[in-house]
Amino acid sequence: MATCQVCEVHAESVFKIEGMDCHEEVAILEKRLKKITGLEALHADVLSQRLTIQYDAAKLNTSTIAEAVAQTGMRAWLEHEQPTGVAPSAATRRLYVALAGVFVAIGMVLEYFGLDRRLVVAAYAAAIASGGIYSGRRALHAARSLALDINVLMLVAVAGAMVLGEWGEGATVVFLFALAQLLEARAMERARGAIRALMDLTPAEALIRDASGAFRRVPVDAIAVGDLVVVKPGEKIPLDGMVAAGESHVNQAPVTGESLPAEKGIGDEVFAGTINGRGALDVRVTRRRGDSTLARIIDMVERAQAQRAPSQTFVERFARIYTPVVLLLALAIGILPPLLLGASWSDWIYRALVLLVISCPCALVISTPVSVVSALAAAARKGVLIKGGAHLERLAGVRCVAFDKTGTLTKGDLRVVAVTPLNGAVPERILQLAASLEARSEHPIGTAIVARAREQAIALSSVEQFQSLPGLGAEALVDGRRVVIGNHRLFEERGVCSREVHALIEAATLAAGGQTMVIVGAEEPIGIIGVSDRPRESAREAVRMLREHGIAHVALLTGDHASAAQALGDAVGVDEVRAGLLPEDKVRGVEELRGRFGALAMVGDGINDAPALAAADVGIAMGVAGSDAALETADVALMADELLKIPYALRLSRATLRNVRANIVFSLGLKAAFLVMAVMGVATLWMAVVADMGATMIVMANALRLLRE
Ligand code: ADP
Ligand code: MG
Repeated sequence: MATCQVCEVHAESVFKIEGMDCHEEVAILEKRLKKITGLEALHADVLSQRLTIQYDAAKLNTSTIAEAVAQTGMRAWLEHEQPTGVAPSAATRRLYVALAGVFVAIGMVLEYFGLDRRLVVAAYAAAIASGGIYSGRRALHAARSLALDINVLMLVAVAGAMVLGEWGEGATVVFLFALAQLLEARAMERARGAIRALMDLTPAEALIRDASGAFRRVPVDAIAVGDLVVVKPGEKIPLDGMVAAGESHVNQAPVTGESLPAEKGIGDEVFAGTINGRGALDVRVTRRRGDSTLARIIDMVERAQAQRAPSQTFVERFARIYTPVVLLLALAIGILPPLLLGASWSDWIYRALVLLVISCPCALVISTPVSVVSALAAAARKGVLIKGGAHLERLAGVRCVAFDKTGTLTKGDLRVVAVTPLNGAVPERILQLAASLEARSEHPIGTAIVARAREQAIALSSVEQFQSLPGLGAEALVDGRRVVIGNHRLFEERGVCSREVHALIEAATLAAGGQTMVIVGAEEPIGIIGVSDRPRESAREAVRMLREHGIAHVALLTGDHASAAQALGDAVGVDEVRAGLLPEDKVRGVEELRGRFGALAMVGDGINDAPALAAADVGIAMGVAGSDAALETADVALMADELLKIPYALRLSRATLRNVRANIVFSLGLKAAFLVMAVMGVATLWMAVVADMGATMIVMANALRLLRE
């Protein structure tokens, strides 16, 4: 339970609700709960069976809420707690369904041999009683709150069949319905389990070494930040942390989806749930269990699946009209022909009952979320976090992809390759000033310059008033002197670029073929530092695959100099290169490209490129494992630096959309066919049940296929 920090009165609790399988049940819950005083808001998520409730803690407590839910025939308990109260176990449910099947079979045999009608009816009645025990109870609860859920419809249909003397039919319907509900629950469990399976990746206990050097095995929940965990070869890493001793290869697939193990040494970051290779590692814990990267991934996937995809909203709106229309039709069919045309009452009432059975839109309503959740879970297992069904659908419509350069299309693992003095400066002094300044910077260029200074054992000076100039460079006071570092554009803007420097930069960039040139200036430019970066090996392949998936235009948007950008663009095979862009120019570039080519995905690093990512239809951030800010800002977050995950995500989103459409068309088509057959009197009750439940099963099975994508 979370309480409002200001007033300690507004509380929020999350319940698990057993029995909330369809949106009809949500309506029932809402009706019942709305009457309670102190309740402020509620939000239901059918697929994960969670109900989030906001309430006034002064007037209401969680047990009152749980009791109210119990009155609807469903069962509620606080998430993260054990379920309370007695519930039929899965085994007893299966037993009752099996019993119903046996009684139906007995009834049929008796009927076949023409035995006493009373015996036959008794067998069928026993089948109805044992098969209908659960849904019958639910139906009564639903009917009491005047809701027409599937249980009520079935109850009416079966009661009608009994009144018409069609006992065999009623019994078959009850049996099939109970069986289908069992199977359906199993399929739902699989979709939910796909996400939970991620959670099981972290061990429950870990070996820690305390200050005295003694080893102790303790529950992971009891471990604090700063503790030292010992991970043996082949073990799972229990918590996020930093390697303090040892060397090993770690299989990070569970978190990042990377296929190759990553090399880890002292100072490297490791994630909970990843698997240690042959070396032993001492890991200094940096995050508690609940904050680990994996825990956040799971949290995000769960939040993502609670969001509605546009097609889901469409289906739900359709269902809201469909059910009442079919019910009205059933009423008309059952009454009008016998009344006006003198047709047989029993014949037409029977047809009306068939309509009742097919009036439930559950297959239709459940199919979209199951597809979306399956896709989100499949993606998460590959290290691709998609923040919701809406993003997934938008991704499927993307026509144009724009890439950032440094760290995205290139490795971002930069190296200083040349230092050219200007105006009589000394190379060591240039590096010394530049590195002192860059020691404060987050930019990969800065990291490269600092690394070079360290290699040459150059001592750094103190720095004040550091300021980063996004897309341009940085400036600060070094030993009280103003020092500026950055690209050509920055120096032009400041009016300190001479014709000579300009020519030198042009010539050097061209000669070096793709190096990034940054100028260092005090009062005047004192040197040029050439930094090289390599394109990612998979960059060319990724761009090619994007084309294969029908992406019409691939662009490179960068703040770097034109010739360096063009060299990379040519190597990777993009259609267009836009260089010398400030962050706001990138946003304008995104908007312009979208106007020309349609929906656009921007791929960047999530921190530096946040505005452009936000402006795109889909913002994709790369290599976000361990970087919380990037994980939050993007619509799609790639845990690892793997460009090939972008065509994968595209393919998955399209497959999901196709899956959803196929399911909608299939279930609608089947409904339409049965509607016609029911009115014409050629469909029987049990056929309608089989069709309806069969449709649900087929649609779910089809959706679950996405788990394997
Ligand atoms: P990209 O678009 O490739 O991600 P940025 O927008 O981060 O590049 O930066 C654009 C250009 O600005 C760089 O190519 C570099 O010339 C200059 N620059 C930015 N930050 C720095 C820095 N900290 N030190 C030196 N140059 C920088
Ligand atoms: Mg960048």
